[in-house]
Amino acid sequence: MDLVKENVIRVREEIAGACEAVGRSADDVLLVAVTKTRSADEVRQAVEAGVTDIGENYLQEAQEKHRELRDLDARWHMIGSLQSNKVKPAVGLFDMIQSVGSVKRASEIAKRALEAQKTVDVLLEVNISGEDAKHGATCEDALHIASEIGELESVRLRGMMGMAPFLSRAEDTRPYFAKLYKLWDKLPDEQRVWLSMGMTGDFVPAIAEGSNMVRIGTAIFGSREQRTP
Ligand SMILES: *Cc1c(COP(=O)(O)O)cnc(C)c1O
Repeated sequence: MDLVKENVIRVREEIAGACEAVGRSADDVLLVAVTKTRSADEVRQAVEAGVTDIGENYLQEAQEKHRELRDLDARWHMIGSLQSNKVKPAVGLFDMIQSVGSVKRASEIAKRALEAQKTVDVLLEVNISGEDAKHGATCEDALHIASEIGELESVRLRGMMGMAPFLSRAEDTRPYFAKLYKLWDKLPDEQRVWLSMGMTGDFVPAIAEGSNMVRIGTAIFGSREQRTP
């Protein structure tokens, strides 16, 4: 069995364990394999190992792989920050854009989606750590922004996404995830669908705090740092 497949199986077991520990069903949590810097072949291996959802950070990189992988039955998620001039091709490629932090960006997506005669699913990215380097709406503004995005046509707000700060003890991230859960829980039912939080280092506490979508790269494909780009 190839390494990617072994890793996908192990990660799924760990997700199931994290769910069980808090009395949730493992089917509750969707695994998004984060494939930035990985080759098209590695993406294919992950999908062959049962992964249904792919997360990419950079439009151009995603486009290159997507061209090679058109035959794959997978959903593509944009999880990296999206520049205005990339919105149009992103709307063409992605099934979900998770990194929407403002009404302005959502409106741009709506405009392009209308032109393409499609509806795009988006998540509101919330800057739960409050760090300047992180993107997303502030916690204070999040619900207001969500309600404005909810008014737009051609985009469908389907939940929230957030990242905890990097902390040496994963357990310490829990208050950040709890904060995002509280905000997400106030969304109207049709928007309170996906709560995307948890990465390789912190998906166990994220699941304990209610995440139902984890975005995992390193635990599936190995460390990005060891590779020369
Ligand atoms: C890279 C990335 C991930 C995955 O990180 P790992 O630590 O490799 O699992 C998840 N979410 C976002 C937004 C990312 O940029």
